[in-house]
Amino acid sequence: MYPQHIVHWIGDAESPSASGETFEKRSPIDARVVARVARGTAADVARAVAAAAAAAESWSRVPAPKRGEVLGRAASLLRAAERDFAEIVQVETGKPWKNAAAEVASSADLGLFMESEGSRFYGKTMTSPIPNRSVRTERAPIGVCAAIMPFNSPLAGVAWKTFPALLCGNAVVAKSHELTPQTAVAFGKLLQQAGLPSGVYSVVQGLGPEVGPPLVEDPRVGIVSFTGSVATGKSIQRTVSARPVLAKVCLELGGKNPLIVCDDADLTLAAEHAVASAFIDAGQRCAAGSRIIVFDRVYDAFRDAMVARTKQVKVGSGPQDDCGPVISRASLDRLLAAVAGAVGRGARIVAGGHAVESLAPGYYMAPTILDGVSHDDELSQQEQFGPVTCLYRVRDFDEAVALANATAFGLTGAIHTFNSNRIEQFIARYRAGLVSINGPTYGAGPHMPFGGVKNSGNGFREPGTEALDVYCEWKTVVVNHDPSRV
Ligand code: NAD
Repeated sequence: MYPQHIVHWIGDAESPSASGETFEKRSPIDARVVARVARGTAADVARAVAAAAAAAESWSRVPAPKRGEVLGRAASLLRAAERDFAEIVQVETGKPWKNAAAEVASSADLGLFMESEGSRFYGKTMTSPIPNRSVRTERAPIGVCAAIMPFNSPLAGVAWKTFPALLCGNAVVAKSHELTPQTAVAFGKLLQQAGLPSGVYSVVQGLGPEVGPPLVEDPRVGIVSFTGSVATGKSIQRTVSARPVLAKVCLELGGKNPLIVCDDADLTLAAEHAVASAFIDAGQRCAAGSRIIVFDRVYDAFRDAMVARTKQVKVGSGPQDDCGPVISRASLDRLLAAVAGAVGRGARIVAGGHAVESLAPGYYMAPTILDGVSHDDELSQQEQFGPVTCLYRVRDFDEAVALANATAFGLTGAIHTFNSNRIEQFIARYRAGLVSINGPTYGAGPHMPFGGVKNSGNGFREPGTEALDVYCEWKTVVVNHDPSRV
């Protein structure tokens, strides 16, 4: 049951906002107000950080394999509670049931992977040119981790940050997204049930510009792990840079991901993957395929195949549906205006382009494909975060790769071809954190490092073993084990 009142989770207890103020949470499925949410303030942030700072030291002394055991129990509890969590994710995002359930399963998988990392918390041993010295590296916890999340996959969002951060021995203060407030609280209750000590994980509710700055400015916060838009990520980077003492900042940001269809591609397979890439989670995925780059020789045949496949996409949030609503009325209005603007600049709608009136007042948009959009148009350059994708016609492979690279982003990308030279050239020449061959633009597992280059991120990778490098500091240890000798 989705609660009607959603509050903070601090020191293992639900807690209202110091101000007593609230804001409303509407369901994207039917625009109904489903809850009132505590509107956090700097005072609430300070309470959560104090609880985390007080708990961090003793949690860091729990051996890593034992910390892993707590995460493993949480993952098992999550699997057992799949229906409850999928329901929360569905109420908050409106995504179809199968996608909400898949999000729960993949979050549990990450917990199990991170449990096993507790037994592989390796450093290195090194040689020393000086006799009687040993040198090694160790992973050290950072302390308090601020985890700031987007709305699109609220459970995966909190799990991707919290599981590795806890495994590394940190305490976490999660800032729920204002549009998906309950998921992180339910996750906190699960961690409590799994045996996580009080204060090691807290959640603050509130509007980003109100609770975000006091959280990242707090000198007790040693790492800010942020996933969200480029604009917010850059502002967090600036805020942290202005602190008297710096903190580590991990930024996982947006994408404008290309999918290239070469003239030797299997067009049916390519259309299937292009549609899935563009419209999964209503295009609200950092890894969504929003630029479909097609060789001239197969352009018309591919466009027809993609439009035909798009017509089969079922819009709705039911068990058989594929493409849910976007997160808010503001998001729907912004997307419709972006499409209208592009049409005004000469683009042509080949599929969708409108809201789904039969599902109103839910925030559903018909899967939309445009062509004739110029490469430098804002629709080609800015992430839309909705079910909108564009087709581009190119002469040959070199033009396709040049176009793929011609945005400020570098998160993911895909190519459809059976030519091994094109495959290897694409892997080498397309600058991004993930490349996919004959598949969709998305696809990450708990063991796979994921992240981007350029404006898609600042070089870190979550999850995989590489996530430990986000939430640990490397400490080099030099031991003179015969102090009687110089
Ligand atoms: P957003 O930047 O609007 O918000 C993200 C979070 O930042 C929210 O919790 C918000 O409350 C908070 N926030 C807002 N202002 C803040 C401030 N001044 N200080 C601190 N926190 C603040 O992003 P969004 O619209 O929620 O999410 C969509 C974006 O997330 C897209 O760009 C998408 O590509 C990106 N994303 C990236 C990945 C990845 O792994 N790279 C994964 C999912 C989503």
